[in-house]
Amino acid sequence: MLLLEGKVAIVTGASRGIGRAIAEDLAANGARVVVNYHSSAEAAAEVVQSIEGNGGTAVAVQADVSNFEAAKELIKATIDTYGQVDILVNNAGTTRDMLLPMMKEDDWDIVIETNLKSVFNCCKAVLRPMMRRKQGGRIINISSVVGLVGQGGQANYAASKAGIIGFTKSLAKELGSRQITVNAIAPGFFPTALTAVLTDDMVQKAIEHTPLGRLGELPEIAYMVSFLASDKAAFITGEVIRIDGGIGIS
Ligand code: NAP
Repeated sequence: MLLLEGKVAIVTGASRGIGRAIAEDLAANGARVVVNYHSSAEAAAEVVQSIEGNGGTAVAVQADVSNFEAAKELIKATIDTYGQVDILVNNAGTTRDMLLPMMKEDDWDIVIETNLKSVFNCCKAVLRPMMRRKQGGRIINISSVVGLVGQGGQANYAASKAGIIGFTKSLAKELGSRQITVNAIAPGFFPTALTAVLTDDMVQKAIEHTPLGRLGELPEIAYMVSFLASDKAAFITGEVIRIDGGIGIS
């Protein structure tokens, strides 16, 4: 039997990058997966195709998860399609990097709403249906090592990712008695569209500061998500797991 057979998972921001890798790994482990996207419909359809091509089950659902009502619709669409939701992976995220004197109010608002408010929105919408089923559940929030150690030029991003960590620990306490676990993953540096804007020099510096001496590979996050989503991780909650090649301790 596959690790996640019979489970239904939602992955926000799964049209590319880390979210895509997570969606594909959950599906490879037997979960039926909702591939959420905001604007990249074609890319999301390709993810669904790739999952189905490997024998999995998935559907793409458009929703701007920074919007409270849209997040509610995403959860509703999941239940309409698959009848339940067992696993929520809050992965959608963005950056608007700028030193604080130059950072515009919009740069702050967009990052906080996309990265942090979306986590509140989706958790709030998923809780009732998850609790009503009385089958426990899994919430996995993608934070960042930047939320733990900070980063010049990313005060908005660091605040959103640190916020996710406080939120994760609080919700873990609230939901423990329901056997719903809430954990966060703090990735280091992974090559995706999000980090493609950085100069070669910045990437080289990040590698130099990483004890393992390389960037991460997307499956290295996805494996951990599938494990945390499984019954094997039933006694892990409120945890923040760094997957960063050690950059957070250097
Ligand atoms: P990415 O390649 O830029 O992908 C971001 C995803 O989020 C896309 O699928 C995008 O969908 C979606 N998204 C953005 N805004 C959304 C919204 N309002 N509603 C729904 N979906 C939305 O980024 P990534 O590198 O894979 O990052 C994924 C997560 O990992 C983020 O939370 C990021 O902060 C975190 N992280 C990444 C790194 C890294 O090194 N890459 C390190 C630490 C943490 P559309 O294209 O449809 O808009």
